[in-house]
Amino acid sequence: MKKITIAIDGFSSCGKSTMAKDLAKEIGYIYIDSGAMYRAVTLYCIENNLFNPDGSVNSAELEKRIDSIRISFVLNKETSRPETCLDGVNVESRIRTMDVSSRVSLVAALGFVREALVRQQQEMGKAKGIVMDGRDIGTVVFPDAELKIFVTASAEIRAQRRYDELKAKGQEVSFDEILNNVQERDRIDQTREVSPLRKADDAIVLDNSNMTIAEQKEWLKNEFQRAANV
Ligand code: C5P
Repeated sequence: MKKITIAIDGFSSCGKSTMAKDLAKEIGYIYIDSGAMYRAVTLYCIENNLFNPDGSVNSAELEKRIDSIRISFVLNKETSRPETCLDGVNVESRIRTMDVSSRVSLVAALGFVREALVRQQQEMGKAKGIVMDGRDIGTVVFPDAELKIFVTASAEIRAQRRYDELKAKGQEVSFDEILNNVQERDRIDQTREVSPLRKADDAIVLDNSNMTIAEQKEWLKNEFQRAANV
C-alpha cells in the first residue's frame, strides 16, 4: 500500500500528540513529536546555562552548539510510545515541566534553531509513512504532505486538559498558570517572524473542543483512509 505523509498542526495542548500517536500506532507509521525536539533544545539551554538572567536566550552560544545537540527517540516497550532522548539520555519527563513549557516558545522562535530541527525532521520523513505533529509541519516541513490537519480548541478547554494531565503525573500546578502559559505560547507561536503558526491553505480544520478522544480518533482514521485511498 502506498505510504503517505501526515502533518498535524495546531495550538498548544489541543490533543494533537494523542491523536497523532494513536493513528501512527494503528496504521504502522512512524510518529514524530516535533514539539518534543524544541522542548529538548530548551532543556539543553536550561541545563547548560544558556538562558540570560533576564530570561532571554544566549543565542550566540546556542548557535555555535546547535548542530552538536543530538535529539533522538526510543520506543518505550511498555507503552509502545516513543520517548525523547537528548544526547543519548531519556529526557521525556523532564521536557514536560512548566519550566520548559514557559521558555520553549522563545527558543522555537530562533531562526537557526528552526533551520536545524526542520532539516532533521525532513530527513526523518524522507521515506514517507510518517505522522508528525507541531506548528509548521504542513506549511514548512512537509508542504507536500498528502494529509494536513489543523487542530484547535478553546484556550480554557486546552488548559483544563493540560492541568488534568500534569496533576495525574503528580506535578504541583495551578490552572491559571497553565492557562496563561497556553495563551502566551499561542501568542508567541502565531506572531514570530520565522514560520509562525498558521493553517496551511490545504489543511482540514478540526475543532475538538467538544469531542472525546475516541471521536477524534475515528474522525482522523476516516480522513487518513480518504487521503490514502484505502
Ligand atoms: O507541541 P508542544 O506544545 O510540545 O510544543 C512546544 C513548543 O514548541 C510550542 O509552543 C512551539 O513554541 C514550539 N514548536 C514549534 N514548531 C513545531 C513544534 C513546536 O515552534 N513544529
